Amino acid sequence: MKNDFLIMAGPCAVESKEQILTIAQEVKALGATHLRGGAFKPRTNPNSFQGLGEEGLKYLNEAKKQTGLKIVTELMDIEHFPLFEKYSVDVIQIGSRNMQNFELLKKLALKKSNKAVLLKRGIAATKKEFLGAIEYLKQYGHQGEILVCERGIRTFSNGEYDRFTLDVSFIADLKKDKSFPYRVIVDPSHPAGRKEIVSDLAYCGIAAGADGIIIEVKNQENDCPKCDAEQAITLKDLKSILNICKKIKMVLK
Ligand code: PEP
Ligand code: MN
Repeated sequence: MKNDFLIMAGPCAVESKEQILTIAQEVKALGATHLRGGAFKPRTNPNSFQGLGEEGLKYLNEAKKQTGLKIVTELMDIEHFPLFEKYSVDVIQIGSRNMQNFELLKKLALKKSNKAVLLKRGIAATKKEFLGAIEYLKQYGHQGEILVCERGIRTFSNGEYDRFTLDVSFIADLKKDKSFPYRVIVDPSHPAGRKEIVSDLAYCGIAAGADGIIIEVKNQENDCPKCDAEQAITLKDLKSILNICKKIKMVLK
């Protein structure tokens, strides 16, 4: 795999110091470039686990110090931005729910940060709307790289055999669009919604030209993460998925 292929792996949410440090070591050994993990989680229901907040960022920072992995974590409120600086977050995720939160995009951009932003496509966002969101970051002064992420959109398949429909055509289109300068990351976990088809979606995304992958993992087969448990794959599965992704990249080079 090309050295610049981005591999972002980790749990949906940071749940404990032990959990994130163990996963960080393991994904590092498998060639990950980034550790993902939410500290502030956008949950559908307020009764669901909301994330560890600052404590989660602190553990991510410890994992970064131990492994050298870059950290990817979601920003939902600009008030949290100083914490993202304090704990040296490398990639600020703007989740699908906030892709069109224009005030958040403006306020983040106005920080003129050199950190990368991972902008996830909204579940019903058109290409024009997605490009508009990128434009907000650019025009209001964001300095760092903008990475864009296809994470599945809502279609009539929803819930029957997947959670969202991974729009591989969108990845292919962006990669063929000469006027589109940003790296495209595929998230096979959220569209799959279940571990059985995460690998298939990952391969399709890579075959469509993705420059990187963001994928949710858990420590052990019988672990039950507090967030997005059904789609979490084991580290053993991650190893084989990354090997096949590497081969697909090589064949299509
Ligand atoms: C996530 O990455 O865990 C997440 C909530 O992503 P999305 O915004 O794509 O749902
Ligand atoms: Mn998740």
